[in-house]
Amino acid sequence: MTDLLIGGSWRPAADGAEFTTFDPADGSVLGTCAKAGAADVDLAVAAARTAFDDPAWAEMPAHTRARLLWRVADLVEEHGEELAELETRDNGQPLAVARTVTVPGTAEHFRYFAGWCTKIEGSVLPVAYPDTLHYTRREPVGVCALITPWNFPLMIAAWKLAPALACGNTVIIKPAEQTPLTTVKLAQLIGRAGFPPGVVNLLTGGAATGAALAEHPDVDKVSFTGSTAVGRTLVHYSAGNLKRLTLELGGKAPSIIAADADIDAAVAGNVQGALFNSGQVCAAYARFYVDRKRADEFTSKMAAAAAALRLGPGLDPDTQLGPLISEEHRASVDGHVSLATAQGATLVTGGDRVDRPGFFYRPTVFADVTDEMSIAQDEVFGPVVPVLAYDDPDELVARANGLEYGLAASIWTDDLSTAHRLAARIRAGAVFINMIHVPDAATTWGGYRASGWGREMGPYAIDAYTEVKGVWTHLGKP
Ligand code: NAD
Repeated sequence: MTDLLIGGSWRPAADGAEFTTFDPADGSVLGTCAKAGAADVDLAVAAARTAFDDPAWAEMPAHTRARLLWRVADLVEEHGEELAELETRDNGQPLAVARTVTVPGTAEHFRYFAGWCTKIEGSVLPVAYPDTLHYTRREPVGVCALITPWNFPLMIAAWKLAPALACGNTVIIKPAEQTPLTTVKLAQLIGRAGFPPGVVNLLTGGAATGAALAEHPDVDKVSFTGSTAVGRTLVHYSAGNLKRLTLELGGKAPSIIAADADIDAAVAGNVQGALFNSGQVCAAYARFYVDRKRADEFTSKMAAAAAALRLGPGLDPDTQLGPLISEEHRASVDGHVSLATAQGATLVTGGDRVDRPGFFYRPTVFADVTDEMSIAQDEVFGPVVPVLAYDDPDELVARANGLEYGLAASIWTDDLSTAHRLAARIRAGAVFINMIHVPDAATTWGGYRASGWGREMGPYAIDAYTEVKGVWTHLGKP
């Protein structure tokens, strides 16, 4: 049983409520966690407010904050194996992914933002008034609620915690109810790093806990990663006190395979781009626009590569593809697949559950998909590859931009001009040319349109976690 962290103390929920988390590789119970209710949310927000105003944090020198963040990175690495195994058990991702992507990605995020602490600057602006000095200060936003999804729980927690703390905010983090365990462990490590009590608070729980945070009148900002549907709800919840909102939402990334692409390289990259973490990636390549001349070759090679992936529990070293997160999610993926078949798409491989314990689903490739079909429009968030053919490169841009999402896109071509012309015209927060989607703390992550508001990572995250204040001084005699 894991507890809540409020104001530096670990404690059960005020009403004693709990919930269970499961191992998606076999459906067994992994553990129970305290389920935070409204009273716990009030306490955590009050603790975060007290810590925000406390000189121990508010006046801590930037280089000391930097050391604390750096120490978190060291602790994450020292506990890397434990964190990797816990992530694999709770989320299902192959252990190799947890070891080589999740844990290093988490540590590097804390290191990158440790560097920012001492570099959050204002500027002197040349105002039109004589004898007047104007400068800007970047100040923390205040109490931030950080709400994360289940697909990369530890890494996405770091994407929010590291910049929020680097900028001097205090936080309440709420992980997804399906995958709370590595965030609980991370909160323990953050406690050991030496942050003052109340700077980092942890509430485990589900939608109601998130909603209570988003509606709370003393929360200044919500940073949310999750579905577009819940993101829309949060816009309403936050209206009361006009909270700052960062929204990292759903996607349906197009991957464009041009006539001149190296098809074998494109298949190798797109199998990963589509099926990494069993397709449970917001930037996953999820609709494939292939030049009609190469569509059959691409489809058959993708199907062969997808079918060859070894499915199994993440802890098995031979596993390349883990389970889906839950039975509910597997049923949703299966529903999308059935609808695609009913709407006339041709099933080339997969399309069914795997007959073993756990929530496994075979990687699935569809040919003869058209833009009107649901499988080309809806975010499936699973191991499904719909292939659409294109004839006209100009029409292609309109088709790629035709959905409400705009998180990521990919282009596969040997022609630089094709690559960069398309990259400029596609409306998405990140375009990957001849490569799979990767996050990096130094760049930018976020979406156009219904894929979200604002950006995480890089200097953009500093914008997201600071307010800008203008200070005016009349230099003449008052
Ligand atoms: P979700 O929206 O169901 O849940 C995300 C988080 O919000 C969880 O912590 C959940 O408990 C909480 N929540 C649910 N309902 C809430 C409510 N009404 N009020 C407040 N909080 C609420 O998403 P999910 O199923 O956990 O994650 C999958 C989705 O996340 C996909 O759509 C995926 O594309 C998206 N995602 C986006 C990014 C990105 O960077 N853009 C990254 C990862 C995942």
